[in-house]
Amino acid sequence: MKSDQQHIDQIIFNPLGVIHSDFKSRFDHVEMKKHESTVEIFPAYVEALYRLNESEFIEIYYFFHLSKDYDLISRTYSGETRGIFSSRVPRRPNRLAHTTVKLISVEGNKLTVKGLDAADESPLIDIKACDTSIFENGQNAVRRNKRRINPRNEIIKHVKADEIEDLLLKAGQIHGHFCPGLAMGVMAAAYAMKALGVNSDGMEDLLAITETNNCFSDGIQFVTGCTFGNNALIFQDLGKTAFSLVRRNGKGMRISVKEETKEVINRHVKSGFHAVFEEVVKNQNRNKEKHDQFKRSGKEKAFAMLNLDIRKLFLIEEVKTVIPDYARSYESIICDRCGEPVMATRVINIDKKHICLACAHSGFYQLDGNGIKEIKHPNREQ
Ligand SMILES: [Zn+2]
Ligand SMILES: [Zn+2]
Repeated sequence: MKSDQQHIDQIIFNPLGVIHSDFKSRFDHVEMKKHESTVEIFPAYVEALYRLNESEFIEIYYFFHLSKDYDLISRTYSGETRGIFSSRVPRRPNRLAHTTVKLISVEGNKLTVKGLDAADESPLIDIKACDTSIFENGQNAVRRNKRRINPRNEIIKHVKADEIEDLLLKAGQIHGHFCPGLAMGVMAAAYAMKALGVNSDGMEDLLAITETNNCFSDGIQFVTGCTFGNNALIFQDLGKTAFSLVRRNGKGMRISVKEETKEVINRHVKSGFHAVFEEVVKNQNRNKEKHDQFKRSGKEKAFAMLNLDIRKLFLIEEVKTVIPDYARSYESIICDRCGEPVMATRVINIDKKHICLACAHSGFYQLDGNGIKEIKHPNREQ
């Protein structure tokens, strides 16, 4: 069947205004969005601004005037390779840009907006009131969907934008409280991730080597995504507040606490944390009041520390280290005594039977708050 409609071969837009920005060319869009921009409307269209000031958020359509060419598949800002229809890269056939921004003010023919990632002199194509219905109805669905695509997306955004406080807030979700050790782990890990320009998908291509098993290590695990469970965390029982972040080739960065770190922190951050730490952790005083005091002062100190210069706290050096092979996957064997499935390498043959280490009352290694140690006589009795 022949359609009555003819295909439109070409669309011509007239610029309705021009955008003034602090950025002469495209830059890190996260940084660009922190700045305010001015959208100047040409006199012929000023009337169209009537009642725009009632909107808190608006949509700006503009032209990527600096893009000269396009690719259909391209690398995004976060380093992923995607078709351009599933990304926001500027190199696109129609060079059409769209950003939702916060409207700060409308004065005459000029709008002040925040969150616009347009380069200076970008031609304005259109402005619309923001349609938030999909977000109001499905904000969680949108967020969930993003997390399904890349569960660490938000963490990497925080790393790139130096949003260390956001990282600490989230790291607290696994650590249970806020403390200087966690803050240091978060700071060190965020620095290394940004400096190396890496992310982890939990497939052991990025590895974190931690030299301590305390609060610091939870900051490392959360921010790097290298964890006990995905085998990308290596624990070297050296008792040092230090960690290395390395790629599969063994190259990376080691960040360690300096001799004077404690003094630097105490000089810049006043808090009663030290005294209460002695009591609660060292002397094991578990009374509720002390506990609450420990958490409160730990939190204050942790957040205050985030403003300190990372180079004053840590020694940062390049490293090349030997890293283990990818973790192997072993079949499971059923223990003939307890009937539980066991990794094949953890089974002993006794009288032609497969017996797990626990049933065999054999020694095994345990990682706990005191480090790695061999457990010779397991408590478990069958
Ligand atoms: Zn802690
Ligand atoms: Zn068993």
